[in-house]
Amino acid sequence: MNNDKVILVTGGSGLVGKAIEWVINNDKGKFGSKEKEKWIFINSKDGDLRSMEATHAIFQKYKPTHVIHLAALVGGLFKNMKYKLDFLRDNILINDNILHSAHQYKVEKVVSCLSTCIFPDKTTYPIDETMIHNGPPHESNFGYAHAKRLIDIQNKAYNDQFGDKYTSIIPTNVFGPHDNYDLQDSHVIPGLLHKCYLAKKNGTPFIVAGTGKPLRQFIYSRDLAKLIIWALREYDEIEPVILSVSEKDEVSIKDVADSIVKALNFEGDYTFDTTKADGQYKKTASNEKLLKYLPDFKFTPFEIAIKESADWFIENYDNARTGNGKA
Ligand code: NAP
Ligand code: GDP
Repeated sequence: MNNDKVILVTGGSGLVGKAIEWVINNDKGKFGSKEKEKWIFINSKDGDLRSMEATHAIFQKYKPTHVIHLAALVGGLFKNMKYKLDFLRDNILINDNILHSAHQYKVEKVVSCLSTCIFPDKTTYPIDETMIHNGPPHESNFGYAHAKRLIDIQNKAYNDQFGDKYTSIIPTNVFGPHDNYDLQDSHVIPGLLHKCYLAKKNGTPFIVAGTGKPLRQFIYSRDLAKLIIWALREYDEIEPVILSVSEKDEVSIKDVADSIVKALNFEGDYTFDTTKADGQYKKTASNEKLLKYLPDFKFTPFEIAIKESADWFIENYDNARTGNGKA
């Protein structure tokens, strides 16, 4: 088959990369596979993207025409608080290597992944795409946030100096199958799924970190995957676009814990450990720009997406990514 597009997905073994692979292979509508598109999913075994040599070798081998750049050092609040320099350095190196290799190998388009947690801590709400650089990010993740903000700067510079079409998308908190379920270092949903699963199995307490009051907009990884595929095929701006459910779908961490209890049929009580950090209280983002492009996009309802994620975790418990925390 003669492919017009060779699409390289970095971070292909992660939460978002696996969801893109799933949508490409399973969606029967407009987001699924298309003739003349060849999709290549890579992970750290294909090469450490912190190394320029390894990154070059990957571009040399696959000769991509398009790149979806997801690979990153990623973690929840508690991992971000512990390893700020690693988050800064690893992500700066990975992003610079990918964007520069894309430029050298004349890649037509790159879509890189930012995050709503890179926005200024002190801000007005809802946050929108124009506000990324308006002030310092929250203290808890300033390493990750500054590295990610630089992608937006690089995209503008590559466009300004060379006319390259590199853009970025900004997802809110993501969850779904193939998440990282480490008990300490994961994001809240996979962390609490794992903790609640163990509490049920072992008859031990289910403890939720913090007060439960912070608010978050969660996007199901398979919904996000569809939107990233759309961005690759159709979104034509250099400026980023926020990929999020709407403001009214924001939920508290307590709501999350309640949904997980329900999805796992956990019958015990749970408590909040208020000695643990809450992180940012909220980072409410506007999806107005996205909806101007895709007014009819249907997000999976939160409870259904949580149930699918919980069922996937139970079925795949033996092989799921649980770090050192597997009990
Ligand atoms: P993830 O599940 O932790 O996966 C990370 C991916 O990056 C894995 O495929 C990993 O490969 C790869 N990777 C990490 N370091 C690498 C290196 N040095 N060289 C090569 N590959 C490396 O992450 P995710 O949640 O899917 O995140 C994907 C993107 O979405 C990231 O850019 C992240 O910042 C962004 N994002 C995530 C969230 C969220 O809530 N999860 C929210 C907003 C934005 P291995 O599997 O081989 O280690
Ligand atoms: P954030 O949106 O970047 O802060 O990412 P997280 O996914 O780490 O969510 C953090 C919020 O969930 C904070 O308010 C935490 O106090 C709360 N939380 C409750 N239990 C957990 C847990 O087991 N892991 C994590 N990461 N956060 C938890």
